[in-house]
Amino acid sequence: MMKHPIIIAGPCSAETEEQVRTAAKELKDFRLPVSAGGEGISFFRSGIWKPRTRPGTFEGVGETGLPWLSRVQEDFGLSVCTEVASARHVELVVEAGLDAVWIGTRTTANPFLVEEIAKALQGTSLHVFVKNPINPDLGLWIGAVQRVLRYCPEHVYAIHRGFSDYHIGQLRNAPLWRVPIDFKVQMPEIPLLCDPSHLSGNTVYIPELAQRALDLNFDGLMLEVHPSPSQALCDAGQQLNPATFNDLMHSLMWRRSTPSDDSLSEEKILIDAIRTRIDVLDDDLVDLLAQRMSLVDQIGEVKKRGGIGIIQIERWNTVSSRTKNLAIEKGLDDTFISEVYRAIHQQSIKRQEKIIRDE
Ligand code: PEP
Ligand code: MN
Repeated sequence: MMKHPIIIAGPCSAETEEQVRTAAKELKDFRLPVSAGGEGISFFRSGIWKPRTRPGTFEGVGETGLPWLSRVQEDFGLSVCTEVASARHVELVVEAGLDAVWIGTRTTANPFLVEEIAKALQGTSLHVFVKNPINPDLGLWIGAVQRVLRYCPEHVYAIHRGFSDYHIGQLRNAPLWRVPIDFKVQMPEIPLLCDPSHLSGNTVYIPELAQRALDLNFDGLMLEVHPSPSQALCDAGQQLNPATFNDLMHSLMWRRSTPSDDSLSEEKILIDAIRTRIDVLDDDLVDLLAQRMSLVDQIGEVKKRGGIGIIQIERWNTVSSRTKNLAIEKGLDDTFISEVYRAIHQQSIKRQEKIIRDE
């Protein structure tokens, strides 16, 4: 049985007091399945200061929402968590008596802000969740966590919410699972949660992302749950309603985090964990190959327009020797990498031939 996963649930943003209270009322009696420890949610989330990409969109209700959140905490016995992006926000949250804060992805990317927030957290008993920075920079994420730890070493957690990029994938943010895996390897004492809502941008993908996080031994999940998602003032497409949240929590496979919990051998558990990491890398490999081929296609179009031949032997020789040297540096066998690249080259030629022939 997995030990007490940390579940944060609640709307993206506080919109009205009634909306926040409805969400809280629906979530206060929720219980995880027995296989996941049978507890309720650990924190109720709701943002009041919203870091929106574009101006002119809903930027949160601001301080007005603080008493709503305090009352949710008092009336429903839920620990409330909200986003802070400055020292002033921390002071206001402390005055309001809330239990927890998260540092958003855009703030984590800014060491000045993280430092001032961390200082403001000193002496408080707040639980602090640090989302990954918006760019896949592991050092920046770890640095932000370390800054917080210097001033308030208790109750610090990390949240993987994916990385902004310019891809045209189905997900709102690129998961790049190897980044949170490396985080876990370097910061094993910091509980790591996954936020499939912001990763996906669309509830359709939430179950598979949440399951993957559990398979990778994440310590919990942050999920956006709104009483009526289609009417949400932001992030409407990615918010679950309380019933679908409940269904999801009961359909996930809550994996064992320690071998002592059942009869599975330690080796089997280790192998499973390593295989899951291999699957993650395979996802990346296939994704990178697809991206590489799409660039090859673009060159094919240019060659077609310019009446240029497909095989440019000089370029191929450069690619071939460059990758061979890179492979040797990484301790890979050079004939192995040559075979891989021969296959890639053949496929590139095939695709370009097709482009040049097609009208
Ligand atoms: C949020 O959780 O509401 C949020 C703004 O997330 P992120 O910082 O991950 O974009
Ligand atoms: Mn949101």
